Amino acid sequence: MSEASNRKAEIGPLPATRSNRDFDPFYEGIRNRELHIQKCKKCGALQHPPTPMCAECNHLEFTQQLCSTRGKLYSYTTIHNPPLFGFQTPHVVALAEMEDGFRLVAALVDGHKLTLEIGMPLSLRFVDMEDGAVSYRFVSDAKA
Ligand SMILES: [Zn+2]
Repeated sequence: MSEASNRKAEIGPLPATRSNRDFDPFYEGIRNRELHIQKCKKCGALQHPPTPMCAECNHLEFTQQLCSTRGKLYSYTTIHNPPLFGFQTPHVVALAEMEDGFRLVAALVDGHKLTLEIGMPLSLRFVDMEDGAVSYRFVSDAKA
């Protein structure tokens, strides 16, 4: 079995995302294997998750910025029970401080097997799902 097949089997099916004016550009970026983050047209603040109003200046218009997929572990939790749909337990959900200054949540591949340290380097990887969708996970960039 190839590495890609193993990864699909490990992750399993996930519910399809729903269309949303604020999230659509983010998920379109993910489908294209890029990280596009909402950027305020007035003050330039990056914010994630996307919202209808800028948290810094209350402006209502945004553009998207192509961002780095590298960050550092800010916090995490290990899910033991109940299992989340499409995941095997235990699995780690990580919150990363990304290089461009916003925070992003994603599962950390094999996180329960790693020695996790706040500040350790992480990268985002795009993952092919069985239904043809693309999702994303963190992987550790720490030297073993
Ligand atoms: Zn703003």
